[in-house]
Amino acid sequence: VAGASPKGAPGTIVIARVASLLPGFGSRAGLMTAKSKVVVVGSFNVDHVWSTDMLPRPGETLAGRYRSGPGGKGFNQAVAAARSGATTAFVCALGDDAGGRLARELAEGDGIALHAQSSSQPTGTAGIYVDADGRNSIVIGPGANAALSPAHVRAQDAAFVGAGVVLAQLESPVDAVLEAFTVARRHGASALLNPAPADAVVTPELWALADLTTPNETEFCMQLKRLGADADPVTLASQPDDALHALCRQLLPHGTVVITLGAAGCFVSHPAGDLRGDTAPCYRQPAPQVDAIDTTGAGDAFNGALAAALASAPGQPFAAHVRRAVDYAALSTERHGAAEAMPRMHELAERFP
Ligand code: ADP
Repeated sequence: VAGASPKGAPGTIVIARVASLLPGFGSRAGLMTAKSKVVVVGSFNVDHVWSTDMLPRPGETLAGRYRSGPGGKGFNQAVAAARSGATTAFVCALGDDAGGRLARELAEGDGIALHAQSSSQPTGTAGIYVDADGRNSIVIGPGANAALSPAHVRAQDAAFVGAGVVLAQLESPVDAVLEAFTVARRHGASALLNPAPADAVVTPELWALADLTTPNETEFCMQLKRLGADADPVTLASQPDDALHALCRQLLPHGTVVITLGAAGCFVSHPAGDLRGDTAPCYRQPAPQVDAIDTTGAGDAFNGALAAALASAPGQPFAAHVRRAVDYAALSTERHGAAEAMPRMHELAERFP
C-alpha cells in the first residue's frame, strides 16, 4: 500500500514528492508529513442510480437513465482519505460476487489496503432514484455490510498499527464499530465517529470512545433528540454560536464536534481544556463558493479529508484541518457520483491554491 501506483496511491514518500512539485501545496492544501495513516471501518455498496424526470409513485413504471458505481459511506470516506494523501486501510465485509470483486479492484486502484471479511451475504447495494430537481429516494440492501463482525475487526489489529485516526460510520453494526474504536484506543489513534445515517443508534459506550464526531445538521438533531435534548435542523445553522456550542457540548461533552452545514461549511466546537491547537472553543468555517452539481457523498468527502489531515499533521491547529476538509468536500460537489467524485491532491491544490 505504501508504494506508489500510477494513479498516485498514497504513501509518505510519494506525498512529499508531490508536495514539492506543487506550488502552494504546502499552504492551503496542507503539507503531509510522516505517520499519515487512516483506518476506515465501514460499508461498501454498489450504487444503482436511475435519473428520471420525477420520482416514481406507487404502481408507476418510468424509464430513466441508468448508471452504476461504487458507494457506501465507508468506501467513499476511504477513497477520500487515500486521495487526500493518507496511507489508508479499509476494514469491511464483502460478498463473493461481482460487487465484492469491484471493491477489491477499486481499492487497489486507489492504493487502499483492503481488509475484507468474506460474507455469504451479497455485497451491499443501494437503489437510487434521482429526479430532475436532484431529489432522491434510496433503498439500501446492507447485505454483507450487516455481517461485519467485531471478531473480524479485532483480527485486523496489524492494520491499525501506526494509525493516527480510525474513522467509522454506522452503515455497519455498532458492535463492530465499538470494537474498531477499542482497537484505536489501544494503538493511540484518534477515534472519529461520523454518526450517519441519521437514524443510526449510537450507544453510550460508542459515544464514550469517540474523540471527535462529525454529524450533518439532521444527524446532529436526531442524535441530540435521542439524548433527550432538542434542536431543529431547519433553524440550526442560524442559531448563535453560543447556543450551537452548548448543544455540541451536550452531544459529546469530552470531544470535538464538527457539524457540517452544506454550502455554509461547518461549525466546530471543542471541549474546554482541549482546543486541539485552536484559539477559540467554537467557530464557523465557511465553504468556498463552488458550482455544485451533485452533493452526494459531500459529507463522506469531508470526513475522509478531515481524517487524512488530522493523521498527517496532528500538531497543526484543528482549524487548518477543517479548512482543508471544507475545501475538499466543496470541490467534490462539482462532480457527479460518490467515491468516483473524490478529488485528488493536485486537483485540490489547483482549485484552491
Ligand atoms: P452531508 O453530505 O453529510 O449531508 P453536508 O451537506 O453538510 O453533509 O456537506 C458536507 C460538506 O460538503 C460541507 O461542510 C461543505 O464543506 C461541503 N458542501 C456541501 N454542499 C456544498 C455546496 N453546495 N457548496 C460548497 N460546499 C458544499
